[in-house]
Formats: sequence, structure tokens, C-alpha cells
Amino acid sequence: AKVTRLGPSPTGFIHLGNLYGAFVDERLAHQSGGIFYLRIEDTDDKRYVEGAVETIITSLDFFGIDFDEGATIDGSVGDYGPYYQSQRGEIYQCYVKELLKKGQAYPCFLTEEEIADIRKKQEENKENPGIYGEYAPSRNLSLEEIQANIEAGKPYVIRLKSDGHQDPEKARSISVEDGIRGVLTMPENYQDVVILKATGIPTYHFAHAVDDHLMRTTHVIRGEEWISSLPIHVELFEKLGFEMPLFCHTAQLMKLDNGNKRKLSKRKDPELSLDYYRQEGYMPQAVREYLLTILNSNYEEWRQANPDADAADFPFQAEKMSNSGALFDLDKLNDVSKDVLVKIPAAELCSFMKKWAAEFKPEVLPLFEGNEAYIEKILDLGRNGKKPRKDLICGKQIFEFIRYFFDDYFEIEDAYPENAAPDAKEILSRYLQTYDHGDDQSQWFDKIRAIAEDLGYAGRPKDYKKNPDQYKGHVGDVSTVIRIAVMGRSQSPDVWEIQQILGEERTKARIEAQIQ
Ligand code: GLU
Repeated sequence: AKVTRLGPSPTGFIHLGNLYGAFVDERLAHQSGGIFYLRIEDTDDKRYVEGAVETIITSLDFFGIDFDEGATIDGSVGDYGPYYQSQRGEIYQCYVKELLKKGQAYPCFLTEEEIADIRKKQEENKENPGIYGEYAPSRNLSLEEIQANIEAGKPYVIRLKSDGHQDPEKARSISVEDGIRGVLTMPENYQDVVILKATGIPTYHFAHAVDDHLMRTTHVIRGEEWISSLPIHVELFEKLGFEMPLFCHTAQLMKLDNGNKRKLSKRKDPELSLDYYRQEGYMPQAVREYLLTILNSNYEEWRQANPDADAADFPFQAEKMSNSGALFDLDKLNDVSKDVLVKIPAAELCSFMKKWAAEFKPEVLPLFEGNEAYIEKILDLGRNGKKPRKDLICGKQIFEFIRYFFDDYFEIEDAYPENAAPDAKEILSRYLQTYDHGDDQSQWFDKIRAIAEDLGYAGRPKDYKKNPDQYKGHVGDVSTVIRIAVMGRSQSPDVWEIQQILGEERTKARIEAQIQ
């Protein structure tokens, strides 16, 4: 059984990449009957944002990510905690002491200025950057010298004493198996990286190695930006005497921008943030389903063969993930969402809409209260036939549809078709005169056709291009006039069905309002 973890830092920004990674973690763990846990990587005070942990936890929960153990909003659940790195100081100290004792780490007293000078010199000499060998004077301090420095109150960090060689000619090459990319071969680490900062707080490198070991992680799924640190981690795991988990480096999500593939950016792409999906009102099932399609190349094929299966039954494989960057496309998400929503019962959709409104559009919440049955009928409009209407995407857009059924939110948005506009009042008053709410669809349409013929909208003559003035229009133009009076827009589901939902009184009132 696999043990995986999500290790977000509470920076206040939880993004699609986190969710994408969480899906991989969750699938790998649960498919194998294993454990998936949440660890909050909050060792970097500078990046900490108030309320960020709550945002992480509630967002992941919203998208249906289920942790078996780990951090909760106000604590930790599970036997391997605490799951907040900020609460694990003593544990890290123990392992640092171990390394110090074995001579594999040392206190480094270099000041920031000294480090800046070293960097300059290395640049001038075109040498590899970093603290190592001759650039690491604290490496060779005697115990007495160290003691004197500490007593003199000199600040220090703890660095790993790397065995690696900085000279590329002499460096060993290491090979690491990656669960997505296969074997990665790269030069060994040569830098004496910081493992404990002057504040006593560990760096990511050190903390994650200790935690992944103690929390018995078998698979680490993380972004490809960490590949370059892999040699450091290999050395750390070795020196600490820990077995390495299997690292799986996921490719960054990309998007097509003017035909070019580029990384999604926090600044340019609002859709990178998970908040975006909640505010727009995407149902978590839809986002899940879409992410699965870009997660594994064979997902869509599987979905076609198993249209009604639970996504959790898809046999996910890390090896089938793209390592060149999965393409994220909002239009595709919208299409997937339409397919998902068409299968969601109206009552469930309605209660989702109500929750969404309560959170993101509280001013319209009263519309939902006590009107559930009415809204369910609206949501079901045209959805139950042979070719169900598939155009519901997300909360914001669904609200734009629902609101037309409520007089307080109704308005005429589109203009009448130009050719029929002069007759609009005549069309509508005839329509009102013959309107019978009990008519079935064909009786109703016969009446419209009669009005159209009577007013000269009898279809397009063959030679209408030659004699355009003789062509007034056809029955479609007449029904568009009616559609606009009833629904405010020239595009809508079937008008007869809409009227059935609106009811006789509301329908007539809307038409009357356009005749005056
Ligand atoms: N805390 C790291 C981040 O936010 C997590 C990396 C990892 O999963 O190992 O990027």
C-alpha cells in the first residue's frame, strides 16, 4: 500500500497545481488501499498568510479531496503528527544533532556580506555557485573555535557537509527513478546547503526529508520545479540513513496563448486559483472530471467505455501522466462540465446553487428560498428528452438563466428581429388574444403559424433576393418576437415549455407589458 502526502505552504494562494497534485496523491494512495495525508509546510514565516491553512483545507474539501490523516484547521489527526512543520521543531533538532555528531553537518558563521562576496567571486571566476570546499571556511573550524564563536554571540546556520565534487569532471553522476519520468540521471550535489536556518527553523530540503521518512511516505508527488534539488535530497536521505520514497515530478499545467504553450501564471490567469472555480460556481464533480481527463491520457477513452462509472474506479497510472506539461483549457472544462451537469438531478443542482449564492452572491439568495420546486423545474427544462439540453456549466451562468423566470430579475435584453420589429405589437396582441395556457405544443404552434401567415410572414419566396421588399420574414421571426417578450432574449429553450413553467399569469403579464 502506498502512502502519499500533500505538503502545501500556507501562502494564501491555493492553485490548480495543488489540486492536480492532490488528485494524483489521492488516487495512488487509495487505489492501493493506502494512506493519503496532509502536511502543512509552514516553516517559512515570510510567506505565511493569516487564514491560509483554513483556505487550503476548505478548498480541498470542497473539491472532494479526502485525507485519511494529517493537519486539520486547528490541530492534527493521526499517529504520525504533528502535521504542521512549525510544530516539529524538536524533531528536526534531533536529526540535526545526529548529523552534527557524525560530522556530516556543521555550524556555518558566514555573514550575509561574506556570502555575497563569495557569490561575486564565483561569478567572476565562472565557478559553480554555492558554499563548498574553499568557500566554506566554517567546515574546518575546531570545536574550540566553534564554541568561542557561539559564546561571542555570532549567528550561524547549520549546513550539510556535502561529499560531492563541485568539479563537473570529477562529480559522480547519480541516477534516481522518477515515477513519471523514468530514470533521471544528474550530477551529484556538491553544495553545503543550509539545513537549519539561524532562527532554528529547518529548510524545505531538510524538513521534508525528515517528515517524509517519519510519516512513512512511499510516494512523493510534487512539481517539476523540484527536480533540480533532487541531488541535494538524495544526499540528505543518504546521510540521514533514510530510504528514499519514489519521487514523481509532475509537469506544470500549461495553457495555449495565441497558439503558444506557456505556464499558467498567477498574475495573468485567474483560472490558476482554486478560488476562481468556487466563485464561478463550478461543481466540484465537474472540475474533478476535467482534471482527470488531463491527468491521464487514457481517461477519456475509459470514460467513454464507462459513462456511468464513478471516477474513483478509473485505474490511474502515474506513468501515464504527461511529462511535457498537461494542457489546461477552460473551454474544455466547460464542455466537460456540461456533460457532468446534465446527469445531476435538478434537486441536487438547486441545492448547490443555493449554497453557491449564499457564499458568493448573497444578494440573490432570497430568490432561492421557498422557490426550490419552481427552480428545479427551470433546471430540468429540456433536460429529459432524447436529446437533453446540455448547456448548464456553472453557478454564475446558471443563475443568469434562472433569473429570467423571476420578475424582479427579468429584463428585455435583445432587440426584436429588424424585419419583424414594426409588427411586434401586432404580433403580441394577436398572440395574447388567442393564448390558451392549456394548449398543447402543436395547438400552440398552429396559432403562431396562423398569426405569421396572416401578417405576411409566410416563408421565404424562392426569388426573395431579387425582390427583397416582398419578403417580410418567416414564422421564426414571429416566434422570436414572442420569445423575446417572454424570455427577454432571442436564444432560449423551447418557448412553450418555458411558458408551462412561468404559468399563465406571468406569461400573459410579460406579453401585455410589451404591448403597452
Ligand atoms: N511546500 C512545498 C510547496 O508548497 C511542497 C513541495 C512538496 O510537495 O514536496 O511547494
